[in-house]
Amino acid sequence: MAGSGEPLRRLSVPRCAVSRAALGGWGAALVLCTSLVACGPTQERAARRPPNVIVWLVDTLRADHLSCYGYERDTSPQLDALAAQGVLFENAHVNSNWTQPSVVSLLSGRAPPIFESDYSSTIPEGLTLLPEWLRFHGWRTAGFTITAATASHFGFDKGFGEYVELDADLDFTVRTRRSGPEFDADRVVAAALDWIDTRAAAPFFLSLHSVDPHAPYEAHVGEVAYTDPTYAGPQDGSLTQLDAAFEERRGFSAADRRQLIDLYDGEIRYSDTQLGALVAGLRARDLFDNTLLVVVSDHGEEFWDHRTHGHGHRNLHAELTHVPLVMSWPDGLPAGLRVPGLMRGIDLTPTLVHALGLPALPDAEGESVLLRARAGQGLASRRALLFADRAKREHGLLAVRSDDLLLHADPERATELFDLEADPAAQHDLGAERPAELERFSDTLHTWRDGRDARRAALELGRASVELDEAQAASLRAMGYLGEDDG
Ligand SMILES: [Zn+2]
Repeated sequence: MAGSGEPLRRLSVPRCAVSRAALGGWGAALVLCTSLVACGPTQERAARRPPNVIVWLVDTLRADHLSCYGYERDTSPQLDALAAQGVLFENAHVNSNWTQPSVVSLLSGRAPPIFESDYSSTIPEGLTLLPEWLRFHGWRTAGFTITAATASHFGFDKGFGEYVELDADLDFTVRTRRSGPEFDADRVVAAALDWIDTRAAAPFFLSLHSVDPHAPYEAHVGEVAYTDPTYAGPQDGSLTQLDAAFEERRGFSAADRRQLIDLYDGEIRYSDTQLGALVAGLRARDLFDNTLLVVVSDHGEEFWDHRTHGHGHRNLHAELTHVPLVMSWPDGLPAGLRVPGLMRGIDLTPTLVHALGLPALPDAEGESVLLRARAGQGLASRRALLFADRAKREHGLLAVRSDDLLLHADPERATELFDLEADPAAQHDLGAERPAELERFSDTLHTWRDGRDARRAALELGRASVELDEAQAASLRAMGYLGEDDG
């Protein structure tokens, strides 16, 4: 593991000087003097101003629908602006295709499986997450979520000084409907800024989890809309209509599919506007320059890229794993840096704690990419990415990805190999034509799978089973969870 301590121990010069040399533009004002050493008074003052940290996770946001990732629509002007003054990872992939395992792997640096089955277990007590690591090192922490998928009931409040579930106090009917303005990101931003104004102490860590691009897809008053006013089909973005099309097997016309994509893009644009509101709020409080602000997602959304619609089903292709990852910290990170190469979800937290000058998390399997990224080297292509199965229902779906190859292995269907350079949409299985690469990737996957039981057993310690009450179950069902697999 490339923890921040390793190279420093070999050198016998003051630690703060080493950290500056090692990190250069990343974290110039850094924290590594905190526990040690003889820094000069001016240096000390600068070095002891650790940044605030905000991680905003926008649920269900696929990277290729954002303008800064090459989308033809201007869906993300605010994120584009943030990336222009920060760092954008071009090829970041999460380690699962649904919320719970993906969020926990992002916050722990540890690959799934973390949850045994759908919404029936808590985060293992012994697993260290980013918020508790920062809290332990002196950050004041608060989390804000507006989705039942990351409720405290499942342990997602772990490590936070305060954890605010913005949907929890809503009227039962509203809460279980999961649609309407009560679930919009502006409530998350308002709650976060209010917390900063009334309860924050420097430095602070905030986690924001919003869900606008998640179905149901809704239009927002006053926001840019992409829908075709002449569309006359049944798809209005509601889960009722989506479910009806699946259950009655009446399918989706080309116009229906276009309508759903247009609505989804509108949700992205609304979400982006709220990011702008957060950035403006930080600037107004003179907090923006010394805040490490991260925007990421837990998974994407399939719009018939391979077979069907949605997420959390039997698909580990890029439409579900390629997510945006942008980091801004004007006082500590370079501006306008785009980092090519494969970035794994499990590398996020190790990279963040490295940038903050903290030791690596004890359970992390990912590694910091800080130095390689800063050096403009991109991320080495040999770094394979492994995904666990969906775990909503055990079917053993796994994939392994490098920069240029994807092995997609569904034991009940097929094991396929895709050349991502020649075929970025992964439509043409080349397994039969390239048996050596198929075997090499299969070996990697099998080795990882063989070690999985031991890792799973280690995580069992401290995990509790969850029983849902009526409102919790209804809330999850209203987001399309707790249903059947798409089969
Ligand atoms: Zn999600």
